This record gives sequence, C-alpha cells and structure tokens, in this order.
Amino acid sequence: MRCRYAGAVALAAAIFAIDTFTMLSSAVAVLYVLVLILIGDTASERAIRATAVGCIVLDFVSFFYGHGEYISLDAGLRLLFSLAAISATAFIVLKRYADQQTVASQAELLDVTSDAIFLTDTADRVIYWNHGAEILYGWSFAEAYGQESHALLASHYPQSRGAVRAALAREGSWEGEITQITRDGRTIHVFSRLRRRSEPGRYQGTTLETNTDITQRKADIEALSQSEQRFRTIFETLAVAIWEHDLRPVKAELDALRAQGVDDLALHFAQHPDILRRIRASVRVTDVNSTGLRLMGVTSKEEFFTHLDGFLTDPDEDFVSFLLALDSGAPHYQGEAGIRTHQGEPLRVLVAFNFPPPELLDRVQASVLNITERIRVQEALQRTRSQLDHALRAATIGEVSASIAHEINQPLAAISAYAAAAGRWMDRDPPNLAEVRASLDAAGEAARHASQVVRRVRSFMTKLEPERTRLDVDALVEEAMRLVQHEIAANGVALTPALEADGLAVEGDRIMLQQVLINLITNAIQAMHAQPAGERRIAVRTWRIGGKVGIEVRDSGPGFAAEAAQKAFEPFFTTKAGGMGLGLAMCRTIVNAHDGEIRIDPPDGTWGGQISITLPGAGRTLLQG
Ligand code: ADP
Repeated sequence: MRCRYAGAVALAAAIFAIDTFTMLSSAVAVLYVLVLILIGDTASERAIRATAVGCIVLDFVSFFYGHGEYISLDAGLRLLFSLAAISATAFIVLKRYADQQTVASQAELLDVTSDAIFLTDTADRVIYWNHGAEILYGWSFAEAYGQESHALLASHYPQSRGAVRAALAREGSWEGEITQITRDGRTIHVFSRLRRRSEPGRYQGTTLETNTDITQRKADIEALSQSEQRFRTIFETLAVAIWEHDLRPVKAELDALRAQGVDDLALHFAQHPDILRRIRASVRVTDVNSTGLRLMGVTSKEEFFTHLDGFLTDPDEDFVSFLLALDSGAPHYQGEAGIRTHQGEPLRVLVAFNFPPPELLDRVQASVLNITERIRVQEALQRTRSQLDHALRAATIGEVSASIAHEINQPLAAISAYAAAAGRWMDRDPPNLAEVRASLDAAGEAARHASQVVRRVRSFMTKLEPERTRLDVDALVEEAMRLVQHEIAANGVALTPALEADGLAVEGDRIMLQQVLINLITNAIQAMHAQPAGERRIAVRTWRIGGKVGIEVRDSGPGFAAEAAQKAFEPFFTTKAGGMGLGLAMCRTIVNAHDGEIRIDPPDGTWGGQISITLPGAGRTLLQG
C-alpha cells in the first residue's frame, strides 16, 4: 500500500515537472487521472478527495507558471480538459469506492451468520467461504479456495450427488440433510440448502450453499426418541394397567356447572343422574397399555373401549368422588371402581390419577390395579375366620366336657367303692356302724371334690382366672394322696411320701393343684398295671429350691415310651386303650397358670415314670401360723 502511495507521489511530481518546466503543448496534465487510478483501489474516501484536489492545484500552478499573464485560448482549453478529466476520474473512483463499501458490508453480513455459507463455480470449486464455514469445517477461506466442495467435505447425500445435481439443474434448488466430515475428522449432520443461478435444465453458473449444523439437534432428538421409547416400553410392560383419558370435556362440563352457580356438585349429580351419565359418556379413552388390554380381555387397542362409559359399571358413587377431586383441583385421586370386561365379567379395581395442569388434560393417565382377587381372598378369609371361631368355640365346649368327664372319673369310682364298702359294713352281723359312717363320710368327701372339680374345670377352661389362696405345699400333697388312697390300696401300690417343703406355701387354687397330683398318681398306678403286685411302688416327694417348691411323683413302672416322652403334654395324646390324653395336658395348663413348670425326667435305675414340678414359693406358712 505504501509503495502505491510513493508511486502516486512520484508520478504526480513527474507530471507536474513535465507540465511546468517543459514546453510540451500537449495536455500532459490529463495524466493526473493516472495518479487517481493508482490509489483508487486502496485509498480511503478522504485520501481520494485530497488527491483529486491536490492534482487540480498542481495543474493550476503549472498553468500560471507557464503562461504568466498572457493566456492563450488554446492553453485555457487544455486546462479545462485536464480539470474535467481529473474531476470525472475522481468521481468514478469515489463511486467505485462506495460500491466496494456496500459489497464489503454485505459480505460482513454473511460472516455474521453462524451458518456455513459458500459459493462454488460450475466445476463445484469453492470461490467464496464465509466465517461460519471456517468455524464449522476448520478450513480457512484461503485453504478451501479452489477445492471441490463435496470432495473436501466428504459430503454424503441421502440419494446420490448426481441426483442433487439433477435437481439443481431442473429446479435450481435442493434441500436436505447430509453428513460431512470436518477437518479434524468429526462427522457432522447439516441441513443443506443449495441455490443455483443458471439456465433451466443446465448445470451451470455459481451455486450458493447454506449449511446449518444440526448434529446436536439430531443427537437431542435421538436421545428424546430413545427416552420416549424407553417410557413406552415401561408403559406397555408395567404390571399395572394404565389407560389414558381425555378429560377436557369433563372439566368443561364441571366448569360450566360451576358457572351456572351449582355449589353442591354431589347433590346436583344425585338430583340429575342424566347429567352425570352425560359427563361419564364424554370421557374418551385415548391409549391403553398391554396389561390394560389383558385386564379387559381384548387383544388390540382398536378393540378397546373408546369411552369410559363402555366399561364402567353402576353405581356411580366412585365416579362422583372422582369428579369432585378433579373439580377441587386436587393433585391426585385414588379410589375404587367397578368395571366390566369385554366378556362381561365384573371386576373391582383400584384407580389412581395424577391430575396434570388444565392445559394437559387431554392426556391423563390412570393406573388401574385389579383387586377383585384380593377382595375375594379377603372375603374368603373372613368367612374362614368366623368358621374357625365357631369351630374353636365348639372345640372348647368339647374340651371342657371331656376334661370334666376325665377329672370326675376318679372321684366317681371312689364314691362307688365307698358306697360298696358301706354296704358291706352294714351287712355284717352286727353291722359296724362306725365303719359305715367312715365310708359314707369318705364317699361324701369324694362327691364334694367331684362337684368342686366340675366347677373349677369349667371356669378354668373358659379362661377364668384360677382362685388363688396361700396353700401349704405339704398339706396340699397329703390331702391329694388321701383322695386317691382307695386306688392306691385297691392296686396294691406301696406309696412312700417324703414331704420336705418345710412349711413353704404356694399361691394357688387348691382344687386344681390337687387335681394335678391326683392325675400324676393315677397315671403312675396305671403305668404299673403289668407289674406284679409286690413291685408297684410310688414315691411322692416335696422339697425347697431357694424360694421355689419342687414336687415329684415317681413310679416303678416302665417309664414314658419314647414318643410319649415327647408328646405326653399334648392334648389328646394317649397310649392307653381307653385313655383320653387330657390328664397331662391339664396338668401343664394348671401348672403354667400358676407360673410353674412341669417336666418328664428320664428313667433311672430305680424309677421308671418320673414327673417333676416347680412352683414359685409364697413364703413359709408355719412362721406365720
Ligand atoms: P391318658 O392318661 O388319658 O393317656 P395323659 O395325658 O394323662 O392321658 O397321659 C398321656 C400319656 O403319657 C399316656 O397315655 C402314657 O403313654 C404316658 N404316661 C403318662 N404318665 C405315665 C407314667 N407315669 N409312666 C409312663 N407313661 C406315662
């Protein structure tokens, strides 16, 4: 640029010198136009104007210097020509400068856009390449200039390059998505618009190509469609049935009712069932998942019900509460509903809605869970439970009567034995009235005991608390032994008591605890049936263990059989032909009710059956008394 200015100055000086100091009569001054042309491409508007003025000034100076006061017409005309030439040239140069400025600012506009814009010639070579293209593809204008654009960018068209050229020739334009490869090897997706100025039907002239990078948008769309696909899969395969409704008509109806001044919607629906039916009929089902199809017994969505009305069964209370929830602007609704499948089978379902904002009411999903089976099971369970209750009550009554029968067997046997004995004493000659009285007293005591047993067993089995009094353990055991003395004697059993509870008392029910001992002694007698009379021995022992009392009944029988040792305390377990299997069960219930424990001890060398009981002690009775 500097060179040009220097050249221009030198040229102007030379023209001035020739014009001023030589006597050439030709119009040398016209040559000043060359100075203007020389700077015209690069100079600013001001510089062009200044140069033009400078040339005119130099022209005048030479003229007056050469011609002095005498100015010929010829010389005057030459001056005029040269001035006109300089002015015209200055005007043209300035005009070109202005045009260039316009073009430059337009080109700048192309550079402002982020789209890649380039021009190619007939041979598809790049002749213009904007800033956006430089950024998108990585090649500068200088690098791209003259290269075949689609080869440089490895453009891949949906059909073929030939088809695009044909479209350009035919219609002068083409649009579509293409992939290209950038300088750093990235594959990008662009939306490409090609425009060609040429004669129709011929592939000629320049092509303007505007490419918008849609790589990110495509990736976003792809991600969106994948996520949509994922949600679709979840929607379809969910174990819960989902169906989608258009609730806009319903909301419109509700809003209209409110606008008419209806305050109590529930009352209004009760008074106008026709309105309710109309609203129900307006709910359109827009989609349903596979689980929903299966639930309703249809195979395709086309077969599915188009309206809620098609499968909702009466009564309408569920639907009314749904409408009230929607009307109140509640965020969700959950309730039960009765529906009818395609085959007419009635189902009970749990329905849950999440209400979207009003503008999205056209697609409202409801999850629907079939609870028919659950309700059926619950009802069956309820029925079974009440049957069981009934059976339990019956069983308890049976158990009570069985227990009573079991427990009074022994006193009854005693009564009849004493009555027989009394008879025998009467039959003596003379009758022994003292023995008769003793037998009758014993029979009376057994009868009283029997009636007490009946009362206690009944109250005990019906879960009344046992009566609790302080009882001297040794006295209790002694009394029990007396009550079975008849059986002891009749079976030839040697009973050895060792009562060493040392006056310790227990809190408890006398009759029940005696019953435990009577049961244990009776079992012991029965266990020794097979033994010779002389070998039947029973030992009853009481002792203290700290604050507790121990009671033990042992016999010389064979001991508990293996299975009996495991199950003897279970109700109705017996190994005896006429046994009821309630004796030990009762014993355990009674002992446990007294916070005590009962257990079977294994046979040792001396004793077979051995049962021991521990009961919590309640202090010593002798000290108090
Ligand atoms: P039941 O006497 O009606 O059979 P129990 O509950 O009193 O019912 O006894 C259950 C079972 O325990 C008996 O059938 C018997 O097999 C066993 N059993 C009870 N006491 C003894 C004992 N002293 N020796 C051996 N076995 C016994």
